[in-house]
Amino acid sequence: MFRIGLGNDIHRLETGKPLILGGVLIESEKGAVGHSDADCLTHAVTDAVLGALALGDIGSHFSDKDERWRGAESFVFLRRAVGLIKEQGFSVVNLDSTISLETPRLRPFINAMREKLAAALEVEINDVSVKAKTGEKVDAVGRSDAIKADAIVLLQKK
Ligand code: MG
Repeated sequence: MFRIGLGNDIHRLETGKPLILGGVLIESEKGAVGHSDADCLTHAVTDAVLGALALGDIGSHFSDKDERWRGAESFVFLRRAVGLIKEQGFSVVNLDSTISLETPRLRPFINAMREKLAAALEVEINDVSVKAKTGEKVDAVGRSDAIKADAIVLLQKK
């Protein structure tokens, strides 16, 4: 049996904050603001994993009101979500994702993100796609006020 899940996320960008995407620290003038480490891509992927089995969303499992998650590494959330789907006998088939960010260009970091996400999802790097696009200078992404990520995950029952 297959199940499909969709996730997305948005974070505000601020000068001087770290920018972490897919567990990779990106050299950037602006970084994402958030309760945890504000890893927008990993949040979207976690939501997709949870969504595939209708297990709620990242906020229902890891509230941004909970002091335990202040500054938390977002891979903790993703690994827990993967644990929840495994408990139900599912495994990940593949992930596709897109990051929307005006600057910097993410190409040099894409393979490092794919490797880290593949390890957390317990799949091969070839099963993980991370794409990047800009906001074409329009909307909050285009003005470098925000970063967005979209993710879609397919699960299979073994
Ligand atoms: Mg988030």
